Amino acid sequence: MIRDYFRVLTVDLSTGRGRIEEIDGRTACAGGSGLAALLFSKTGLFDRTWDDPGQPLIFAIGPLTGYFPLMSKVVCAFKSPYHDQYAESHGGGRAALSLRFADLDALVITGKARRPSCLVVGSRTLEVKDVHYLWGKSVQRTGRILRRMVGGSGHRSILRIGPAGENLSAMACINVDTYRHFGRLGGGGVMGAKNLKAIVIVGDGSFDLPAGKEYSPLFQKIYGQVTETSMMDKYHNLGTPINVAVLNGIQALPCRNLQATSDPAIDGITGETFAERTLLRNTACAGCPVGCIHLGFVREKFGEPHEYLYRQVTYDHEPIFAMGAMLGVLDASQVLILLEIAEKMGLDVMSAGVALAWATEAFEKGLLSEEETLTPLKFGDAGAYGLAVKHLGEGANDFYRLLAQGTLKAAAKYGGTDFACVLGQEMGGYATGEVFFVSQALGLRHSHLDAGGYSYDQKQKGKDVAQAVEFLVQDEKARVLLTSMVSCLFAREVYKETVLADCLNAVGYRDLAQNTGDLARRIQKMRWQIRLKTGFDPGSVQIPERFKQVVTWKGPLDTEYLDSLQKAYTQQIREMGKSDESGS
Ligand code: SF4
Repeated sequence: MIRDYFRVLTVDLSTGRGRIEEIDGRTACAGGSGLAALLFSKTGLFDRTWDDPGQPLIFAIGPLTGYFPLMSKVVCAFKSPYHDQYAESHGGGRAALSLRFADLDALVITGKARRPSCLVVGSRTLEVKDVHYLWGKSVQRTGRILRRMVGGSGHRSILRIGPAGENLSAMACINVDTYRHFGRLGGGGVMGAKNLKAIVIVGDGSFDLPAGKEYSPLFQKIYGQVTETSMMDKYHNLGTPINVAVLNGIQALPCRNLQATSDPAIDGITGETFAERTLLRNTACAGCPVGCIHLGFVREKFGEPHEYLYRQVTYDHEPIFAMGAMLGVLDASQVLILLEIAEKMGLDVMSAGVALAWATEAFEKGLLSEEETLTPLKFGDAGAYGLAVKHLGEGANDFYRLLAQGTLKAAAKYGGTDFACVLGQEMGGYATGEVFFVSQALGLRHSHLDAGGYSYDQKQKGKDVAQAVEFLVQDEKARVLLTSMVSCLFAREVYKETVLADCLNAVGYRDLAQNTGDLARRIQKMRWQIRLKTGFDPGSVQIPERFKQVVTWKGPLDTEYLDSLQKAYTQQIREMGKSDESGS
């Protein structure tokens, strides 16, 4: 299984045929983010739009997948319906191990199927099934039917889209094994454009564990750290929703379309409340002993006098912020109901919640009427939001179809650009200040996880522009190394650079282990080169006025500092994106 090349399956949906290729570049690109960028540089159509049938949809794993705990993510890369540029999205579930057991470093899907289809791949399998009867079905129903149709329970991973993806929404996610997602930047829309309702990866092969003496003790040491020390405790215990009360307490939680940074009634949706009132159980991605996935229950009355059924819905900080605090919905059960509707539609809940928060303020200001929203929108009105989420997923009218392409696109038509909470894409759940706002607005994935700007805002008191930008560049580089392996970023305190080098050595990738610093720098640069080549101009990014009116525990936002950070980080990105000897 250790090899100095990548074993990649490329499938053309137009013909239903695939081929295995051995692609050079292991030492330069490692895997994950690096491999996805390499494959996009070879197969991406830079001068054509995102929905051109020839565009690739890429899924890549890393050199440590299957060998160490929490090496459980897959990097998905594509040209995004959101901005028509290169995009990466990361997802967990069972997909990474299924690819490893199918003996694939990556899956590349091109072409467009003639009929709505499901692609089934494994170590000995490649089939494009006609599943026209699944078109229009929810994510959950599609999953239930596919679990019966395709064997390999326990070894297979089922990726699918809902109506939002079929409608080519730029907010459509790809659901992975029910509780995880390739959430952001519209991967679900890319599948929809390919007539691809689902992908089943069957991990039907096997692989040997490394033979050397180093592997077993190193595995035991890392396993012990993640299970027996407090390092990962918070993720299993309350999970990321612990942040809701913390951020609210320091006035850094975006509330009601960022008109406020805290809410006195936040107790209804804190991590503690979700755990006490709704938590059923925890679950985990395959290969992870931490189990940070929290499942709450939604109860529905279906008969008198007391006939109920319940369903399980996953929750995290980001979904709670987007469908809770941002919409003024401050009841845990009501938030779970909204999350479940978004899940059914196959919508990215963060994008959907932030977009509807803008729509609510626009409705209140008279920029939108019921003719557009189809239901009167009001902060706190969970019933109305239930309908609106469905309308957004289904693309119920021109307004919702435009909103599904991005809040700024709707604001350009209806007004309200100044209060659109968009930082490259709809914002993440942190109103911590200048460094985070610039980090997400300019970050390669426009993700709160591109770099730890939210943490820098909380820890650093000074306003040293050069120091902050250096932090963003270096922190992104460290994360790029992790996502090239492909580690869950929650394990970033465990998998420091030296530990990753030890892991690579232990499994036999000694060349990769020798210079992880250069490796990370090279991949970071390569990703920026591709992003810029697909049209990204960091100098044209505008941070809407609403962010400049934010007041946190530090006081009002410093617009001068924000502008200086933006200029300096733009300069750094341009430097990283310059062509050089790597030739990308
Ligand atoms: S910590 Fe959570 S997201 Fe990360 S691999 Fe484990 S279960 Fe998945």
